[in-house]
Amino acid sequence: MTAGRLAGMAQRNTWQRDRVRTALGDAAGFVSAQDLYAALREDNTGIGLATVYRALATLAASGEADQLQSPEGEAIYRACSTTGHHHHLICRNCGKAVEIEAREVEAWAQRTAAQHGFTQAEHVVDIFGLCAECSAALPAGSESPHTHVHADARD
Ligand SMILES: [Zn+2]
Ligand SMILES: [Zn+2]
Ligand SMILES: [Zn+2]
Repeated sequence: MTAGRLAGMAQRNTWQRDRVRTALGDAAGFVSAQDLYAALREDNTGIGLATVYRALATLAASGEADQLQSPEGEAIYRACSTTGHHHHLICRNCGKAVEIEAREVEAWAQRTAAQHGFTQAEHVVDIFGLCAECSAALPAGSESPHTHVHADARD
């Protein structure tokens, strides 16, 4: 029975996707497919990395998960509590994320697009940085990687 086999396959996919969705919901912030795969492996789910990638792509396409690009160019995902358009503050160290509204950005994006005659403009704005906890955990004197500290102390 072809229909029965297809239904069975769909069900199997749904089970795996549900499991990936749950793992994503359990994650504290943005995670990569590799991170989720590792977590699922610890739980002995038997879900392969390719399946995790597929499930995440499906969840992102259906709007159940947010997908964005880390500064390193890696795709990272999160099960967002907000379904509407929003922005994120993301800790690049621990992945913790805060969902933020950015009315100034909405207004600026609309105005800028209109000035150039663009319609149906979309935008992606996310802020990467170090969260309060990760900042506090930094050794003193290394607040910014762009700050050069000259150690030749003179009295
Ligand atoms: Zn979000
Ligand atoms: Zn952090
Ligand atoms: Zn926006």
